[in-house]
Amino acid sequence: MKTAVVGAGAMGSLFGALLAEAGVDVRLIDIWEEHVVAVNQNGLTVESEGHVRQVRMKAAVAPESTGPADLIILFVKSAQTETAAYTAAGLAGPDSLVLTLQNGLGNADTISEIIDPQRVVAGTTAHGATILGPGKVRHAGRGATVIGMWAGGDNAPARQIADLFTAAGIATEISDDILQVVWQKLLVNVGINAITALTGIKNGRILDLEVSRNLSVAAVEEAAAVARALGVDVRPDAATHVLQIAEATGSNRSSMGQDVDARRQTEIDVINGVVVREARKAGLKAPVNQTLTALVETLQANYR
Ligand code: NAD
Repeated sequence: MKTAVVGAGAMGSLFGALLAEAGVDVRLIDIWEEHVVAVNQNGLTVESEGHVRQVRMKAAVAPESTGPADLIILFVKSAQTETAAYTAAGLAGPDSLVLTLQNGLGNADTISEIIDPQRVVAGTTAHGATILGPGKVRHAGRGATVIGMWAGGDNAPARQIADLFTAAGIATEISDDILQVVWQKLLVNVGINAITALTGIKNGRILDLEVSRNLSVAAVEEAAAVARALGVDVRPDAATHVLQIAEATGSNRSSMGQDVDARRQTEIDVINGVVVREARKAGLKAPVNQTLTALVETLQANYR
């Protein structure tokens, strides 16, 4: 399966490398020129569990006319999804599949406005990665990847991707209810990301104070009520589950926390922000998520 990765930062580089090592023809596309030059010159350096290896791959700052890719993996941050989807459209033929494993809710819908919705595959991954510098990535954690056709229907195309990924060491399962899977991960981000971003704490500290614990529970329960009102069957113990994840990832700084620390635009719009918009669709209000969204938006608009 000829594969292109649009947005080859931490996750795009990692997935590209794992696929390339399994013999897949992979091309990375990223607007970060220094990274592209480094990958083309020396390959990608992958640090994993104390070991370092080089993976040879082609990289480019813009798509080249090398014919359509069978699979295009979109791994930009959510604010760049629309632009990246246009890049993906330029790489796609009529049978190409476009996959998003980005965090939040809304990316697959944005892609489906630009790419044939019947070719859009979405999901979540529990793998983690960090960019260490141009041409260098750390594989920070492993876990399940779950995907499915975003428009529903026959999951056969998604299964092709799952087989390819699993053969490359990215254990991937198929879900017939991918919206539920995406909401379930969204709830985790809803209960951890904005709180840690606004306060500067690591994930585990949420549990240390009653006020922060209660705030996380309130944000998650509010979002879970929205999901249920829209017919999405999220787990009944969602808030407790999120606190367990905050504890298990206690020494991590959330991705939104890292974005705020580095004065980068966050993914708030597709995390707490989307809960507010989905609540409106269901005739509900989401004041806790609305407040968290407003605070993070204010913070990122006032970076020095
Ligand atoms: P990242 O910032 O490391 O990588 C994004 C890359 O996209 C950057 O290299 C950037 O230069 C590139 N880019 C921006 N605009 C572009 C464009 N128009 N065309 C091509 N490239 C463009 O981000 P990341 O940590 O890899 O995260 C990507 C997505 O995956 C996010 O939605 C994130 O929430 C999700 N995610 C991340 C992790 C993780 O551990 N890092 C884990 C699970 C999910």
